Amino acid sequence: MSTANKPLDVAIIGAGFAGIGAAIRLRQKGITDFVILERDERVGGTWRDNTYPGAACDIPSRLYSYSFAPNPDWSHTYSGSAEILRYIETMVDGFGIRPHIRFGHTVTGLEFDEATGLWTVGLADGRPKLRARSVVLASGPLANPGFPNIPGLDRYEGHRIHSARWDHDYDFTGKKVAVIGTGASAVQIIPELVRKAGSVKVFQRTPGWVLPRVNRRTNGLTKQVYRQVPGAQSLAREAWFWGHESVALGVVWKSPLTRVVEQVALAHLRGQVRDPWLRRQLTPDFRAGCKRLLISNDYYPALQAENCKLVTWPIAAISPQGIRTAEGIEHRADCIVFATGFEISKQGTPIPVIGRDGRVLADEWRGGAYAFKSVTVAGYPNLFLTFGPNSGPGHNSALVYMEAQIDYLTDAIGLILDRDLRMLEPRRERQDRYNARLQRRLAATTWNSGCRSWYLTEDGFNATMYPGFGTQFARQLAGVDLADFELTTRDTVVIR
Ligand code: NAP
Repeated sequence: MSTANKPLDVAIIGAGFAGIGAAIRLRQKGITDFVILERDERVGGTWRDNTYPGAACDIPSRLYSYSFAPNPDWSHTYSGSAEILRYIETMVDGFGIRPHIRFGHTVTGLEFDEATGLWTVGLADGRPKLRARSVVLASGPLANPGFPNIPGLDRYEGHRIHSARWDHDYDFTGKKVAVIGTGASAVQIIPELVRKAGSVKVFQRTPGWVLPRVNRRTNGLTKQVYRQVPGAQSLAREAWFWGHESVALGVVWKSPLTRVVEQVALAHLRGQVRDPWLRRQLTPDFRAGCKRLLISNDYYPALQAENCKLVTWPIAAISPQGIRTAEGIEHRADCIVFATGFEISKQGTPIPVIGRDGRVLADEWRGGAYAFKSVTVAGYPNLFLTFGPNSGPGHNSALVYMEAQIDYLTDAIGLILDRDLRMLEPRRERQDRYNARLQRRLAATTWNSGCRSWYLTEDGFNATMYPGFGTQFARQLAGVDLADFELTTRDTVVIR
């Protein structure tokens, strides 16, 4: 591995699912001169950070994993966060990635030098800068907890916990707990809290669409089949993939099938909630799919437990003792759980990125982020994004999308090294055409149908989701089309 002085072939930022996946694919291509810079002391990203009680993935594990690292031992259809973290750690050791990881390395910024074709990677804590021919920015969109902008937040004297930084030492027994938020994290946390706490008040701003979840334990025989029958795991994965793909018509696009999804969710609500007033409070007023669909069998029952209460009055302020709602009631709480999502930089970048000619990516993205096929950006050669702009699925596994991005970017990095390129950069006109089409297609999607969600900027620009099938997303990334890029060799020859 290179020293700080000798440029690396690749610097990967982040040891979550994406960074580890990219590292595995690089090694499989014979590219070994790379490091993974990880700010924490452990791998796993989202699955290291989200350890709240009930944390699990609402996509089946067979599909929420890499096809190149099948796991016959998933314990359930939908696995919990600890098992997913174990899966990531097993990959890290099984594929020989650990020696490449530099823990406790926080990246502070990236700057490209056109003359040498190298990125300089700034590091916190006085560590020397690194240089690399390519950078993979795999820091993840959901890495930093987001607290709501509610007056009085700083004056609260009780205990506060964010869903993505759980405090396992706090004893909820007998405590008065308030939960703010009713999104994907909250619906997993609330049933667990209701079992432990004295009382739970759930502060809901917007009710979501909730679909039933059928979670089965995988028995020994099935695991045996996965282990011994060639192709059994990939067949099961394909079946799950196409099952999810088929719901895109109702979840991604506003269509008559969206009504079908809504009817299934309403039947689930009617089946689980008897009280018509509560049902009304829990009935969404936006199209299914617009916000992330929630998948739970125990959320509605938990809300109806004796020690749980749904509060739908808007929060006016946080007081030293609890939460004050708009009608003037103060709800005292020993602890407030913030299931309020993440700080998301749709209009900026997680770290400063300076590209060719001193351009600043955050400035270019001020109106909303955009990229070419979500992975590369004109003006920022040899920089590769995972979970970049418009790479999110609403109906299928993020890991399928991630795998497509990783294969694409590792092919491109292979090209840079094989041809000894100084710069590989998407052509701006191709990028513009790609995004114009993308935004036209987004207009017909459920996400852009008029609800507030973390997918959209304040102005309603969708820089997050990919408007199509997973198959389309993967197909557009199947191999690097040289016509999309400007390639510059070391002696400044531009290959057109
Ligand atoms: P989220 O979806 O952004 O939900 C945040 C919740 O907090 C929403 O209910 C929001 O209400 C509420 N909120 C925010 N500010 C508020 C305020 N000032 N007053 C009252 N309520 C407020 O966050 P999340 O649940 O952590 O999920 C984020 C993403 O993580 C998901 O979309 C998903 O991609 C991922 N995730 C996945 C899984 C999984 O199983 N795969 C599980 C958890 C999370 P509004 O709806 O009114 O804005």
